[in-house]
Amino acid sequence: MFNQRIKIKDLLATHYEQQEVVVMGWVRTFRNNQFIALNDGSTGSNLQVVLELGLFEESLLKRITTSASLKVRGLVVPSLGKGQTIELKAKEVEILGDSDAEAYPLQPKKHSLEFLREIAHLRFRTNTFGSVFRVRHALSFAIHQFFNERGFVYMHTPIITASDAEGAGEMFRVTTLSPDKPPMNEEGGVNFKEDFFGRAANLTVSGQLEGELGATAFGEIYTFGPTFRAENSNTARHLAEFWMIEPEMAFCDLEDNMNLAESFIQHIIRYALKHNAADLEFLDQRLAEEEKQLPQDKRSEMGLLEKLSFVVNNQFERITYTEAIDILLQSPAYKKKKFQYDVKWGIDMQSEHERYLVEKHFKKPVIVTNYPKDIKAFYMRQNDDGKTVAAMDILAPGIGEIVGGSQREERLDRLVARMQEMHIPTDELWWYLDTRKFGTVPHAGFGLGFERMVQFVTGMGNIRDVIAFPRTPKNCEF
Ligand code: ATP
Ligand code: MN
Repeated sequence: MFNQRIKIKDLLATHYEQQEVVVMGWVRTFRNNQFIALNDGSTGSNLQVVLELGLFEESLLKRITTSASLKVRGLVVPSLGKGQTIELKAKEVEILGDSDAEAYPLQPKKHSLEFLREIAHLRFRTNTFGSVFRVRHALSFAIHQFFNERGFVYMHTPIITASDAEGAGEMFRVTTLSPDKPPMNEEGGVNFKEDFFGRAANLTVSGQLEGELGATAFGEIYTFGPTFRAENSNTARHLAEFWMIEPEMAFCDLEDNMNLAESFIQHIIRYALKHNAADLEFLDQRLAEEEKQLPQDKRSEMGLLEKLSFVVNNQFERITYTEAIDILLQSPAYKKKKFQYDVKWGIDMQSEHERYLVEKHFKKPVIVTNYPKDIKAFYMRQNDDGKTVAAMDILAPGIGEIVGGSQREERLDRLVARMQEMHIPTDELWWYLDTRKFGTVPHAGFGLGFERMVQFVTGMGNIRDVIAFPRTPKNCEF
């Protein structure tokens, strides 16, 4: 029977002194045939298990190796050693699973993040990844909590979709046709009529269009699921498979949308600060160590914890795209030709521009609104100036774009006209257009890239280190 065990997190948090308990976990280190640092994943802190000399067989002691799994029954006593208040005086030790410490890839020393990516199946057992993935869990929970408390309906939008109209990125095809000899049509292309769905299908890049169908019935919905982009961008912020949170609200304009996004981000960070203090403390120190290696001008101005409390306690800056371009044009960086890409009204800002705005100019998250219509999607609400749309992107220090959203075009004639201009087939999206025919309402929503959010909260520089098994170009291991 296993469920009588107590988790190390609970044990360390509660006063069980002089009580007998059972713990189970993996050996991190074993010193002097006497002190085991035992970790069970519930917390980054190890439990010190003390073996009285002479009480255990030599043959058993030999099997207590790094990463062996143990069951220990013992007495909780105050610790004499440094670094812990209690320890477990072992009465009974059972090896649940042996481990060949020589062959075990994780040695008790510092490994590079690149190396740990190659052994992603074991990296959860390190302090860093233990903390990152406990924080990732907390953020997921806080997301559901935030929306549930506000009466949003959690909607599961499809993963496989036949519409590729959204144009958010390159798509992965889903097919059961033979790769060697697919059936061909008269024009010499693949005949998808013979494919599984009777038409070409892809993995979704966003649940938004379906989300709008939900919002125009339930009022407020959110999605939280995987999305896929076959974009060949090998950056520290792009994955081929990532998770996205997409709330969609009826009776909501751009300003309501921004207000919601801001309090949403603050809520989930606050939750993690409260419930994962030890993990964030650890990550704060890890980042400080890492930044010591950098030249002074590359270091962040704030530590991780300082940055998080700053974001929770201060309003985001709000500027229009036109103002953002003006700031860039006035910037010393522009004047000294420090930007690689050109700046002028109409450009899709590059990450160097976004980072200048948040890291150098405002030094806080920035919401940029009212982008040129030509660089944004067809469904964004057209502004009266004829040039811009009611879009909003949230830019975060160290990450760049973390949220993309907009008020949606609810006027059928304007929407159809824009779709025709952009060559988006209106007949394929007949169901989407129906919402504008049957009781259309002002509505808005946004997408938050979950991994970018986890990066922001954990301070991890590479997006591959905040998802369990990253999918990127030429990499699909595990
Ligand atoms: P970017 O310009 O950074 O590629 P995008 O404009 O393509 O982003 P959207 O289509 O607006 O992004 O998607 C909404 C959110 O999803 C983004 O704000 C970002 O947080 C996240 N996101 C987009 N693409 C990726 C990706 N390839 N990997 C991880 N997160 C992503
Ligand atoms: Mn993109």
